[in-house]
Amino acid sequence: MTTTANPPSRGGFAVVVVAAGSGTRLGAGIPKALVEIDGRTILDHCLAGVAAAAPEGTGWQSVVVTVPAGDTELTRVAAAHGALAVDGGNTRVASVRNALEALADRSPAPRAVLVHDAARCLTPAGVFGAVRAALETGHGAVIPVLPVVDTIRQVDEDGDCHGTVDRSHLRAVQTPQGFDWDLLREVNRAAGTAHDELITDDASLVEQFSDVPVHTVAGDEESLKITRPMDLLLARAILAARAQHQNQIQNQETA
Ligand code: C5P
Repeated sequence: MTTTANPPSRGGFAVVVVAAGSGTRLGAGIPKALVEIDGRTILDHCLAGVAAAAPEGTGWQSVVVTVPAGDTELTRVAAAHGALAVDGGNTRVASVRNALEALADRSPAPRAVLVHDAARCLTPAGVFGAVRAALETGHGAVIPVLPVVDTIRQVDEDGDCHGTVDRSHLRAVQTPQGFDWDLLREVNRAAGTAHDELITDDASLVEQFSDVPVHTVAGDEESLKITRPMDLLLARAILAARAQHQNQIQNQETA
């Protein structure tokens, strides 16, 4: 009898949720992911959304959450959702690196990974689905985007304007950002750690350290990043509208 070596097997889709930020701009005095909206933490809302968006049949292969070093509360929230909590770093990109290290220990390795900001805790399942579908059709790097609605001007240090930017070619970038597993590992290795402070998303590493094009799919206004106190008002309004919609459906079903 002859045997053939199996090719290296690949797992499914993994999710990294970065939740190790301090939330200074929100001014709550606690890590942002612990701030509550309608009685539930931002991380709890986020992980419920991640679970609701899981691929039918298989689910997510793994969900890893980065938490501030020394945290116990966010770790408990992660565990309640069956997610693994790992210490974050001093910057977002350092936090993502730690999560990728944790995923690299898994066998089989995931085939692709979606990196998501915990602060985008109300992202609709459709956005996760669009990112995943684009990865499945062969794109190596996928980001959800929205058109820019404001007029954008360049301003110098004195506050004087120097021209208006053509916004028709601009997009505001959201998460989850999806990547082929090997590609994301490779560009993180190539980037090193010297410029961590300047890197605000993962797709910019793909642009700088590979020739793989970054593909865009439609983002969603409800996928706002909770950053300032006003964003909490918007998040509560979105949750209220969703609850009302849900009630209407239930009333129609029982009528
Ligand atoms: O600060 P900002 O809102 O842009 O951070 C985006 C996301 O990255 C947040 O969900 C935050 O918790 C996460 N983050 C992290 N580790 C850091 C900084 C930010 O996981 N050191």
